[in-house]
Amino acid sequence: MCVELQVRSSENIMEIEVVKCECCGLKEECTEAYINSVKGKFEGKWLCGLCSEAVRDELNNQSAIHEALKAHISFCRKYKSNPAVRVADAMRQMLRRRSS
Ligand SMILES: [Zn+2]
Repeated sequence: MCVELQVRSSENIMEIEVVKCECCGLKEECTEAYINSVKGKFEGKWLCGLCSEAVRDELNNQSAIHEALKAHISFCRKYKSNPAVRVADAMRQMLRRRSS
């Protein structure tokens, strides 16, 4: 087995990782490059597609990404503590309400 070849080929393979959303806890399989680009945008936190959309939306009300993140994380916590409401549904409703 050629070690050098293994090293070289592993650089070309896209690393897939299971990553968990820091807001709603949703798990997704993503490439490392994608995970890092999302973390770069949100202060080292990985957010799922829906949460990143909500945080971007929140930026209309908040001046800084830090504040927008904080607002959205507390939004998710509020709904997570209420099992009758699904976080994803609540977010979709919020986004729909804002865009109309
Ligand atoms: Zn999420």
